[in-house]
Amino acid sequence: MSIADNIAEIRERIEAACQRSGREAEEVHLLAVSKVKPATDIDAAFAGGQVRFGESYVQEFAEKVDQVSSPVEWHFIGSLQTNKVKYLRGKVAMIHSVDRLSLAKEIDKQWGKIETPIDILLQVNLGEEETKSGTTAEELEVLARDCSALPWVRVRGLMCLPPWEADPEDVRPHFQQLKELSIRLADLDLPQTRMDHLSMGMSHDFEVAVEEGATLVRVGTAIFGARPPKVAG
Ligand SMILES: *Cc1c(COP(=O)(O)O)cnc(C)c1O
Repeated sequence: MSIADNIAEIRERIEAACQRSGREAEEVHLLAVSKVKPATDIDAAFAGGQVRFGESYVQEFAEKVDQVSSPVEWHFIGSLQTNKVKYLRGKVAMIHSVDRLSLAKEIDKQWGKIETPIDILLQVNLGEEETKSGTTAEELEVLARDCSALPWVRVRGLMCLPPWEADPEDVRPHFQQLKELSIRLADLDLPQTRMDHLSMGMSHDFEVAVEEGATLVRVGTAIFGARPPKVAG
């Protein structure tokens, strides 16, 4: 199967999940997670109709971005050190992994330099896993309130990276919890804040995520094939 074939198949599975759950397929965007994959794979996916791409490693992204000739929309989805935010400035449409105020403030500062607003998502650590980033459900409201006061940052929703489960059905309660948190936050009606995106679901469990309200599914392996192990950087 080619990359374009994989994308077509995933789109069909997203549409089927939308039908099962009474959603419109247009509400759900496929984000192709291209970390570790070469620019040529990204151009091949773009030729197959794929526009949005997610990257996880700042240095790799900074080197790769100029090698990609297609006019793609970049999203940053990986854990992010504050001192590396400047390398993303002006290059990404959305940052999914904002989990602390110091990071949001640095994003605000960098995008303020180019006087352009940036869409962000707040990452929630639902399984309370120590190895994963993300704010806790309890601290989420304070983080959202603080972010809503930053002039160049627009909170657009929530993101989660739940614990891996052999059976995707076991992840469903986490997706439901993220949806509930987003409804609760939307009720606060915070300035410059819209809870219109839920970034959840990966190769292994994106159909369940779509059934539970995902608007952005982050799919890597099922599009580009397996990745070699890589240390974060
Ligand atoms: C790598 C990654 C993905 C994609 O995972 P696959 O299982 O390859 O689909 C999604 N989200 C994040 C945050 C990632 O780092």
